[in-house]
Amino acid sequence: MTAVDTPVVIVGAGPVGLLLAIDLGLRGVRCMLVEQKEAPQFLPKMERCNARTMEIFRRMGLAERIRAAGLPAHCPMDVFIVTSVVEPPLLHLPYPSVDEAKRLIAASTDANLPLEPYQLISQYTLEPLLKSVAEALPSVTVAYGTECTGFAESAEAVTVALRRGAVASQVTAAYLVGCDGGASPIRKALGIGLAGDGNLLELRQALYRCDDLYERIPIGKGRHYHVADNRHTMLITQDSTRHFTLHSVVDTDADMVTQFAEVIAMPLPFEMINCAPWRQNLLLADRYGSGGRVFLAGDAVHLVIPTGGLGMNTGCGDAVDLAWKLAATLAGWGGPKLLASYEIERRQIGSRNVAASRFASAGRRKWRSMWRPDITEATPQGAATRAALARVADVEQRKTNEMVGAELGYRYVGSPLIAAEAAEGPEHNFMDYVPTTYPGARLPHVWLKDGTAVQDRVGHDSVYALLRFAGFAGFGGFGGGRDAAALGRAFAGYGAPFRAIDLIDERARDVYGHDLILVRPDLHVVWRGNALPEDCTALAALATGH
Ligand SMILES: Cc1cc2nc3c(=O)[nH]c(=O)nc-3n(C[C@H](O)[C@H](O)[C@H](O)COP(=O)(O)OP(=O)(O)OC[C@H]3O[C@@H](n4cnc5c(N)ncnc54)[C@H](O)[C@@H]3O)c2cc1C
Repeated sequence: MTAVDTPVVIVGAGPVGLLLAIDLGLRGVRCMLVEQKEAPQFLPKMERCNARTMEIFRRMGLAERIRAAGLPAHCPMDVFIVTSVVEPPLLHLPYPSVDEAKRLIAASTDANLPLEPYQLISQYTLEPLLKSVAEALPSVTVAYGTECTGFAESAEAVTVALRRGAVASQVTAAYLVGCDGGASPIRKALGIGLAGDGNLLELRQALYRCDDLYERIPIGKGRHYHVADNRHTMLITQDSTRHFTLHSVVDTDADMVTQFAEVIAMPLPFEMINCAPWRQNLLLADRYGSGGRVFLAGDAVHLVIPTGGLGMNTGCGDAVDLAWKLAATLAGWGGPKLLASYEIERRQIGSRNVAASRFASAGRRKWRSMWRPDITEATPQGAATRAALARVADVEQRKTNEMVGAELGYRYVGSPLIAAEAAEGPEHNFMDYVPTTYPGARLPHVWLKDGTAVQDRVGHDSVYALLRFAGFAGFGGFGGGRDAAALGRAFAGYGAPFRAIDLIDERARDVYGHDLILVRPDLHVVWRGNALPEDCTALAALATGH
């Protein structure tokens, strides 16, 4: 056997690489995270962690830290369509603040809402926070200012070439994960292509500091102000409420100064901190790795238009799917199908989310196509143009803001780790979330009678959990087919950690629809039933990838 220096090398400390390092670190897996930049940069990119990503952060004990660094919890998440932020909006779509959303979640009695609401936090705030978390984990080595210059994969290991300044070095790892962004040198070195539509539109994005704007916007506080113009202009509130980004199709960086002044339409002092072009893409990688010891995650394998916020959020899903499978394989109990299932499970979600982003951005293009030059005129014709655009936007803009089905309702179809059922599973739907325990789905959030959440009862470790509902009228107790011992022995046969969790809660049982639900370490359902299967060994073999 080749001796390895570290079990896992992760290239790229964007949000996806950082999350993967943290998830591995929390599972006690030694890994090295290398990033070519000297430090996280103060550059704008994403700003909304969706509800699923916040559930993931909660499991890692990070949700409240992220909220404390992000947009204050009382700030509304409203979306406006405007001609400027001082004119009456053409359309105002209200969305709850985190405080309001938490109240709705606390009062929920079904499984329709997530355990955590979304959180607006600018990527330039999130990355340093995640970096400090990763650096505090004893099993994680974080090396900024270190570029991966190449790698060589053998049957037993991956040798990764690194360069720090003029100093070249080599690290041998069991696995290499490229979280190296849209230009992914690792994807290119593997000869993996991207399919879809590239270079759909080039915009400029600039970051501004404008201390007084947020408090002074007369039409209401919100997160997005889409300007109904022919330049795709959009103003985005950043987490401090003193910083804003503006996207627009203009000719020069200097035009972005004029554009910001026009949109805010108030004589407020502001500074443009930086400005750069970016391109819209809808692309999916043909493969998610070498098929051996090299994997790809995040923007390296899917590039979406930020419409709908499915870029980083999809990458976070990749990271948590891969982390426990790497941990299980390195611990020796993961079967050969475990790591192979990463591409099967996550590429279908990448494909689905590229489609969701296409759906949402087509909606946005549709209402933007209603723009006419008279839109700002105080004439009957101008009013008619504004009203017609608003009517279309009231349907089409919602596609960007309300894709809860894409965020929460994804499930893994055709995975070798998931027990298929005879009946077809629920349909994938971008806009509606229909809670389900159909195998492959994310375990829906349900409150128990004692005020705890089922998701919290499972915890964040590499353990399979059998949820057993019992102890109320009509239920026969934990005996008979619901005795978990046989399944426990089957998992033990593979050396895989397993625990049964007894939940005495009739309502939760009704919501979940089954007495027994087997979930895996990433909280996706493996199997469900009302009695254990005859062949528990087969179920444990399936769940562990044997
Ligand atoms: C304007 C805009 C708005 C967005 N809004 C949202 C949003 O609201 N929600 C959302 O989910 N997503 C959003 N996104 C998308 C989001 O920013 C990306 O999906 C996210 O950054 C991808 O994270 P990543 O870690 O995969 O890659 P990246 O963030 O690109 O990180 C890759 C890292 O790899 C490093 N790297 C590359 N090559 C090497 C090498 N050879 N050696 C060492 N290091 C290397 C790079 O320096 C980089 O730091 C937005 C994007 C844009 C442009």
